[in-house]
Amino acid sequence: MKRRCEICGQPIPKERLEALPETKRCVTCAERNGSDVHGKRSEVGMDPDTYRDLLGATRS
Ligand SMILES: [Zn+2]
Repeated sequence: MKRRCEICGQPIPKERLEALPETKRCVTCAERNGSDVHGKRSEVGMDPDTYRDLLGATRS
């Protein structure tokens, strides 16, 4: 199960894919592009990309 980051094209680490099967971004890009949800990281208790994925799943 190999997936590449939609932004930088780097392979996404399998630990990340196991934790976030829906993610399309590597950790670096998720943090770089997920600054809008960064502030909620601690209160939500998950990393920004997980939060975004959840939001995306709810919207679509
Ligand atoms: Zn990336």
